[in-house]
Amino acid sequence: MVDRIVLVGAGQAAASLAETLRAKGHKGGITLVGDEPAPPYQRPPLSKKYLLGEMEAERLWLKPGSFYEEQGVELRLGVRAAAIDRASREVVLEDGTRLRYDRLALTIGARPRRLPPEMGGDLGGVHVVRTLADVDAMATAFRPGARLAVIGGGYIGLEAASVARSRGLDVTLIEAALRILGRVACAETADWFRALHQSHGVRFREGAVVEALEGVGGRLTGVRLAGGETVKADFAVVGIGVQPNVELAEAAHLGLVNGIAVDLACRTSDPLIFAAGDVASFPWRGRRIRLESVQNAIDQAKVAAASMLGEPIRYEPTPWFWSDQYDVKLQIAGLNLGYETVITRPGAREGTCSHWYFAQGRLVAVDAMNDARAYMSAKRWIEAGRSPEPAALTDPAADLKALA
Ligand code: FAD
Ligand code: NAP
Repeated sequence: MVDRIVLVGAGQAAASLAETLRAKGHKGGITLVGDEPAPPYQRPPLSKKYLLGEMEAERLWLKPGSFYEEQGVELRLGVRAAAIDRASREVVLEDGTRLRYDRLALTIGARPRRLPPEMGGDLGGVHVVRTLADVDAMATAFRPGARLAVIGGGYIGLEAASVARSRGLDVTLIEAALRILGRVACAETADWFRALHQSHGVRFREGAVVEALEGVGGRLTGVRLAGGETVKADFAVVGIGVQPNVELAEAAHLGLVNGIAVDLACRTSDPLIFAAGDVASFPWRGRRIRLESVQNAIDQAKVAAASMLGEPIRYEPTPWFWSDQYDVKLQIAGLNLGYETVITRPGAREGTCSHWYFAQGRLVAVDAMNDARAYMSAKRWIEAGRSPEPAALTDPAADLKALA
């Protein structure tokens, strides 16, 4: 019988998992263990509205405080799970508490990659953006006129640059690869966002390798690039990707492949232990992937919950993502893995546009900039496994519904 369920990691996936377990009628205990002091909260505003200073911390909470009491979900916050004792089916917390489980879920997310101390990564004024504490720690640095070096041209870097320019800071973005958004988007989308940021006054250094962060008295003063240039900076935001938090699973000898490896039903190599969210890699259309998104954390956790209660179920998502920069909403449907062709569809209004990715003639993903119609149409096509005629997309007057 499934009586006691323990969830380790109290973030986006854990909140979804706990809610789904109760919605599905689980009457036994649910204990949620998280090493951060805050209850489960949404991270997207940390690099958007919260960083802009337009959102209160309480609005980040995924559930009101009353939810956990009403739903009988025990919260153990501010304490790390240090080990999993699979033989006795117990999670060992760092304070020595042992929690018995019938089913265990690991929703322990990922942590930011950092520049090493030898490079000056531990200087004062060098920040990452993952937790509420990270963002609160740099609040005073975000003052008009301050010089910000953003290191990394992914979502974190671009969103931080957008907020900083909106608040009147001087921003230089440094990207090691030849172009920004290399991991997630095509060159056309990267060009579009570079132009957007340049129009707001962001300076770009692409193909620029950081040699060292320079400092005086333990505080950052600049970023030295290979080739000799030093970008002067009062502080830096480092957004150079994340690594999944696998150590707990590794020590318990669970299977790992770029994260904690789960099957379609979110089960790890131990049938009593499940995983979901940023930390979990899962089979998807003939390969194994790990997604770092809100959609994935919520939906995979729902499947994990059902699976923990013994329902036969498979996680087969059509992924979607979004990003907000200045007044632009980027919406992405699908995954652009293995694409060969990108078709640009001009939007009906100025400042709108979409890029459609095709692999072997099949539509696999779309990046839509302020073009909700393109995003919605593409998402439906991808979900249905259908594709429009690429050439027809380039005519902005062509009705997307008619193309379907
Ligand atoms: P998390 O939300 O990271 O939760 C994991 C929790 O487990 C953390 O609190 C961690 O500290 C804790 N933990 C780890 N190890 C232990 C342990 N041993 N014991 C106890 N607790 C532990 N996605 C989008 O789709 N759109 C966006 O616009 C977007 N914006 C983002 C902006 C920022 C600044 C960041 C950081 C992420 C953003 N994301 C966005 C990504 C999204 O927030 C993540 O994919 C999502 O939070 C993953 O949820 P999760 O539950 O897997 O992990
Ligand atoms: P990311 O998307 O992986 O981007 C990191 C970028 O930094 C990559 O372009 C990377 O290039 C570059 N880089 C790596 N090492 C570097 C170095 N030493 N110097 C300069 N550039 C370097 O990760 P992220 O932007 O840090 O985001 C972190 C997490 O938050 C991800 O999970 C992301 O999905 C999530 N997030 C999502 C959103 C959203 O969905 N809107 C918003 C914010 C954050 P290479 O690829 O060549 O290594």
